[in-house]
Formats: sequence, C-alpha cells, structure tokens
Amino acid sequence: MKETGQQIRCGKCVLPHDFPNISFDKNGICNYCLEWDKKWQNFDYDKAEAELTRIVNWAKAKKRKYDCLIPYSGGRDSSYVLYLCKRKYNLNPLAVTFNNLFMSEYAIRNIFNTVSKLDVDHVFLTYQPEIVRKFYKTMVRDGGEFCSVCTSGINYATSKYQKQFNIPLVISGTSTRVDEQSPFEITCTHPVYLRRVLLQNGFSLETINSFLIKRSDEISALEKIKMKLSDSDYIRINLPDFVIWNNLEIQNVLERELDWDTPDKQKDHIDCKFAPVKNFLKNKQIPNFIFKQEKFSQLIRDGQMTREEAVEMLNSLSNSEEEPPAELDEFLNFLELEKKDIENKEKKSHLNYVTKEDLVVKESLAFRLLSVPWQLYKRFGMKIK
Ligand SMILES: [Zn+2]
Repeated sequence: MKETGQQIRCGKCVLPHDFPNISFDKNGICNYCLEWDKKWQNFDYDKAEAELTRIVNWAKAKKRKYDCLIPYSGGRDSSYVLYLCKRKYNLNPLAVTFNNLFMSEYAIRNIFNTVSKLDVDHVFLTYQPEIVRKFYKTMVRDGGEFCSVCTSGINYATSKYQKQFNIPLVISGTSTRVDEQSPFEITCTHPVYLRRVLLQNGFSLETINSFLIKRSDEISALEKIKMKLSDSDYIRINLPDFVIWNNLEIQNVLERELDWDTPDKQKDHIDCKFAPVKNFLKNKQIPNFIFKQEKFSQLIRDGQMTREEAVEMLNSLSNSEEEPPAELDEFLNFLELEKKDIENKEKKSHLNYVTKEDLVVKESLAFRLLSVPWQLYKRFGMKIK
C-alpha cells in the first residue's frame, strides 16, 4: 500500500483502503487487482476469437432479418462495436438508441453520421418523455443517482426490438476488462431497486412495469425454457470480452474510418451531457470518494495508464470535484429540482432500498424442479449440437 494525499491506496492500482470489500496481500496489492490478473493477464484471445466466430456463425445461420442488435449510445465503445460487426464480422445489425433525454450533441451527430457511413438500419426510441423525466427526478431525490433510469431505458429499447424482430444476438460495448466494475455497495441500477423507489413515490405498478424490463437473472427457469422451445431465446455478449479493446487505437480507427468527432480523446462517456453530474452526485454520496478511481484502476491494470498519471489526476480531481460541475444548473432546471434536493444530508443511496440478497432470484420449489431438465440440457444438450 502507498500513501497518496490523505488516502492509503493499493500499491498497483489506486483503490483506497476503505473501498468496499477490499483486502491486501503482503505486498500491498488489492484483491481487485489480483482477481483482474487471474482473469486477464494470460487471457487467450485466439480462443476467445474462435468462440466469437462460433457465436457469429450461429447468429447468421438463423437467417433472421437482423443477425444482431446493438444498443447504440453514440459513445466510443458502441460505435466501435457497430463498426466491427458490420465491417469485420459481416453481420447485419440493427442499431438501437434509447433517447435518455440527456444525449450530447456529439453523440447525436456521431450516431447519424456513423449509421449512414456504415449503412445500417437504426431506430431511435423516445419513451414518454414526461414520465421518464419524473423517474429521473424521483431517483435523484431519493436514490442520489439517475443512471438507473437510463440503464432501464436501454434495456427497454433493446428488449422491445429484440422481440419484435426475433434477433438472436445482442452485442454491447461494455468491457469487464477496462470499464469500472463497481461493487453493489457503490452502484446499483437493478430494476428491483428502481421499482421500490418508484412505488414508494406513488407511481402505479402499471406505469413502472410498462418501462422496467426484467433482467436475464430475474427471468424464471420456466420462461427461459419457453423461449428456448419457441426459438425466441437470444445470446447477449460484450464484444470487448472477446477482442483487444484499446481506447486510443479505437479512437484512431473511428476518426480515420468514420470521421468521428470528439471533444476530448481522453474523456469517457461523451455520449451523456450530464456524466459530470453523475460523478459529482456519487462523490457526494460516499465520503472521500472519487468515482473516477475505479476506471483509472482498470486502465492501470490493463497497461493503458500509469499509476503516477492516475494519482496526479486523482489529486487534481479531489480538489475540483468538490465544486459543482458547469452542467449542474441545467440538470436541476430540466428535472425541476432544487439545490437542497441533492444536498444528500440524509445519505440518500440505493442501500436504503435494497440489499445484495434482495437481488438474488428466489425461485419457488416448482420452478427449481422444472429447471433441472433445463440445466441438464444446457450442460449436455448444447455440446451435442
Ligand atoms: Zn489494486
């Protein structure tokens, strides 16, 4: 462990000693780093690429109108997913954008430019803006965050078009290798949590359930079997878990091949104009916390950033992140919130509504019995094919 500023941090990444569930080995390296190394240090990309080819061929063989659906935010990662799927893997994708009401002008310009350059079908879905705005307002006021609403919207749009066109494969650009993997204690966007907050604030179950889509871990065994039998089940993958995902290299390809436009090459999440507000609220929620440290830690582990660079950035952030971001007033006006609504004196957080255990699906005995043949099929049937 090394001391930087007021915080004692892991000797390899920059996670602090009070990070949830953290522990250190005798060399002062944290368990998150050790876990990462175990998974990624000797990752076999040839094997992963072969697995990806198998999945791509499986999707093409279905001969549906679209081979895959790509949730498309207009950010760097999802743009690169679209690019690879079309140009490298020769898939016929449907790109789906959920209008989260917070899209940056860069994202909008890049989306329309990219889909026409790559010549792919694209749908842009706006869902009852007034309701979505009320959802946001409630989540900010009671949960101290708003990303859960956007995440649910993306799931809503993805699920709607996946079902409508019976698309066998959903491909996203989230990377478990380099994106932050916040533990439950820090972030939760689970529908169970949203449902509870919204219900307590007087939204009807009908209003909530017409927007909140069950996560795959909430779908019962019986439903999964039904989907399998009717050939309407689908595979969901994160493309960065199969191929090398280097931020600067991706940026270069997008600029060269798609005339991509970005305000700042180093900046993440340029697709949401209120991303700085998200970090600001999160830092308010947890004392001495800098949300960016998780992303920096991932980049250090992957060799895309040095620990010194990260420490320097954290030191400048810890001074400036106390200050409200420039976008805060626009954000509050848009949601009709006041400054006192985000003071967070009462420590508003998802932890007031859900526990880790709540998110584990509890299947009834009947469901568990029904799932036995399903598990057997999954283990042996798929190999026989
Ligand atoms: Zn570490």
